[in-house]
Amino acid sequence: MPEGDTVWLTAHRLSRALAGGTLVRADLRVPRLATADLTGRRVEGVVPRGKHLLTRLGGGLTLHSHLRMDGAWHLYAPGERWGGGPQWQVRAILATAERVAVGYRLPVLELLPTAEEDKAVGHLGPDLLGPGWDPAEAVRRLLADPGRPVGEALLDQRNLAGIGNVYAAELCFLRGITPWTPVGEAPGPDRLVTLAHRLLTANKARHGHITTGDTRRGRTHWVYGRADRPCLRCGTLVRTAEHGTPPDRARVAYWCPHCQRGPAPPTN
Ligand SMILES: [Zn+2]
Repeated sequence: MPEGDTVWLTAHRLSRALAGGTLVRADLRVPRLATADLTGRRVEGVVPRGKHLLTRLGGGLTLHSHLRMDGAWHLYAPGERWGGGPQWQVRAILATAERVAVGYRLPVLELLPTAEEDKAVGHLGPDLLGPGWDPAEAVRRLLADPGRPVGEALLDQRNLAGIGNVYAAELCFLRGITPWTPVGEAPGPDRLVTLAHRLLTANKARHGHITTGDTRRGRTHWVYGRADRPCLRCGTLVRTAEHGTPPDRARVAYWCPHCQRGPAPPTN
């Protein structure tokens, strides 16, 4: 599951590669868009909104895509061999004379008028990496359902946009609370939100979501991805449990039972 900073970086790379160019090839491999002809349109730019990508085209059209679990956009030079996965996973090809952008495994791909982008992203809460980041509004939305487990509340893009599994786990760790702590009981929700903003901002221009300040392999996260390995702070074995409700049920929460206080996951 890409985090908001990954999407931000993807958008910036796509924008740098394509913006200002004219599409010489545009191939959208989803049935609904198979006949859409975008060749000849100028690429105005690619804008991230939370975990959504908005590729704005001349004539007031936007191509909306979402990477969801393992989607990705790759960039190539014309004629260069593609390496993002098998051909059948290619969902979109946008090429200018200079660059070819290939979208792999995109579960969401739609065209809509740029003026109606809100239909695709209007539900999102304040965008952690957006120009109009509004921490007070993010806190207000988080606390609107105070009994909700904080891990789930942080993942809900309607509260604040950009947090995925990595940051949900690491934020709970850094605030010393388990992911099942009711968000209304999380101490300092304003500091939680500020920390989220700081972490995503610090990581947006690089790969990896480093929350420990340590870039060494195996040292980048306090608890995320460390199932049955020692917590980097205290050495207690990190535990995992699934959390969330469908369609997010596959999300795994990681926590250190020593460093983090609060309710344990409900047993089932
Ligand atoms: Zn610990």
